[in-house]
Amino acid sequence: MTPEPKVCAGCGRRIEWRRRWADDWESVRWCSDACRRRGVKAVDRDLEQAIRDLLAERARDASICPSEAARRVGGEDWRPLMEPARRAARRLVAAGEIEVTQKGRVVDPSTAKGAIRLRRAR
Ligand SMILES: [Zn+2]
Repeated sequence: MTPEPKVCAGCGRRIEWRRRWADDWESVRWCSDACRRRGVKAVDRDLEQAIRDLLAERARDASICPSEAARRVGGEDWRPLMEPARRAARRLVAAGEIEVTQKGRVVDPSTAKGAIRLRRAR
């Protein structure tokens, strides 16, 4: 039986079991060397918290754009934080805290392309 997928500790994307990991699947945390090298830094935790705070400030059903979290953490220099903000959002989806939507529908954050919005999990 193939083990259940897990979620990358960095980018928050699903990690499907692969045969080459058969012996150490338990210890797999990262989907790629890039994610392992990048790790999760203080700024990444700040982005997670910014998403939580922004959603807490809005109506229960309101959604936000990941760029709002990037701006809150990065100020003027927010653009480099856009992809980190999306990674933070995926980690929060994995934690069951939020949902990622496109056109008001919940989408799979592992595969969603293009603009996304974030809202509290329902
Ligand atoms: Zn990853």
